[in-house]
Amino acid sequence: MITIIGAGPAGLSCGLQLKELGIPFQIFEKDSRAGGLIRTEKSGKYQFDYGGHLLHFRGSDLEDLVKGLLGEHNLVRFKRRSFIYSNKTLTPYPFQVNTFGLPPEVIRDCLLGFFDTKLKASRAKIDDFFEWILFHFGFGFAHHFFFPYNQKFWKIPLTELDSEWAEWSVPKPTIKEVIDGALGLNTQDFGYNVFFYYPKQGGIETLAQAMAVKLDKIFLNREIISLNLNNRQILLDNGEEIGYDSIVSAMPLKELILKIKDAPDEVKKAGESLRHISVFCVNLGVKGPMISGAHWIYFPEEQHIFYRAGFYTNFLEKPSEHQSVVLELTYLPDQAPLNDQEIIKRSVDDFRKAGFLKDEHLVEYTGAMKIPYAYVIFDQNRKRVLPGILKFLEENGIYSIGRYGRWTYSTIEDAFRDGRETAKKLAR
Ligand SMILES: Cc1cc2nc3c(=O)[nH]c(=O)nc-3n(C[C@H](O)[C@H](O)[C@H](O)COP(=O)(O)OP(=O)(O)OC[C@H]3O[C@@H](n4cnc5c(N)ncnc54)[C@H](O)[C@@H]3O)c2cc1C
Repeated sequence: MITIIGAGPAGLSCGLQLKELGIPFQIFEKDSRAGGLIRTEKSGKYQFDYGGHLLHFRGSDLEDLVKGLLGEHNLVRFKRRSFIYSNKTLTPYPFQVNTFGLPPEVIRDCLLGFFDTKLKASRAKIDDFFEWILFHFGFGFAHHFFFPYNQKFWKIPLTELDSEWAEWSVPKPTIKEVIDGALGLNTQDFGYNVFFYYPKQGGIETLAQAMAVKLDKIFLNREIISLNLNNRQILLDNGEEIGYDSIVSAMPLKELILKIKDAPDEVKKAGESLRHISVFCVNLGVKGPMISGAHWIYFPEEQHIFYRAGFYTNFLEKPSEHQSVVLELTYLPDQAPLNDQEIIKRSVDDFRKAGFLKDEHLVEYTGAMKIPYAYVIFDQNRKRVLPGILKFLEENGIYSIGRYGRWTYSTIEDAFRDGRETAKKLAR
């Protein structure tokens, strides 16, 4: 029997594939609902995902899977409308090809810095994310966007991060594209998420539920408390002990290692050394005229406590005067900065000061939502210890998958693929 830990996208997709292959399995999920991070909370006329959760597809196989699960007519395809708010100006994302409209001295700094870095002889080795930003974009873009935004987001010195995750997610433009962007001539779209899908109704959780109903072996409210490798036993929170042949775990890798009672000391130490950041979502239910037509807006400047605002209502087909908005902040897990009410108050005040909330807007609902494991920190240590941890687990019949299981930066699509491929691997 294969035991799957976690009914998020990775665990659900693994279960669906095992079912198709006729291999027996069971899924234990500590929460009362399946879905992991693709869940949606409702409050009256407002609904909130766990931060914006949109469906981007690089492969048609998974696009077909999702369309098959939800029905094509239940998905809406959007062209991204995302912006950056800086210097009291909204410019389209990504910043590096859209400086038109910013103060002239900002544009000048960005262009000079960009030309300067392009003219320099290429450096042999880029050690860290700080250097990577300077190397690809120059000091102007670094100073006016990349440094403040990323410092606000990552909360640790950028010299401690490596750039592996940014290579695929941050668009690197040509000289012509940057010049066009400064003159307002860009007509192209940049980045991996130009188009996305979102369920017509019910929020992103609709997708998780469409998967979960196909699986009858999901045990909810069942948390894995500990694992024993020697006798291949799992202890559940209701006191039950069960044996396993193989485990597919989508719980955060760091947590998984803590739960393995007989893990060798070096593996325990490697697990402890993995770092991540958490996300705090300030959810607002606002009645009144449309706050913004954007899907989301980045806020790089320090005077706004949040780094991003998301407008869930703009993922719906029709506008509504009841707008569900999320303001997202990050924090280091061991340094929760303020209490929930203070964070909510400061966020609402900053949003108002930036001119998004006006007198005619009535904030009818405020709420806090926390994502303890949100973004993995890509540092040198992760690179060094991760392969050894995953290898050790596999040697002991444990396949750690998904965004937090693999301790990586990846999407829902990646989690689906990972679950599916792991099931096929186990079948072999
Ligand atoms: C703020 C934010 C925004 C994002 N936006 C997007 C987006 O727009 N598009 C996109 O594609 N991706 C997005 N992602 C990434 C996406 O959330 C993940 O790729 C995806 O959720 C990973 O799925 P998973 O199954 O690996 O993990 P999870 O969704 O975390 O699922 C893991 C499951 O394991 C369960 N679990 C944990 N411990 C135990 C235990 N001890 N016992 C039993 N069960 C346990 C959890 O309750 C959970 O249900 C975003 C992530 C964040 C943090």
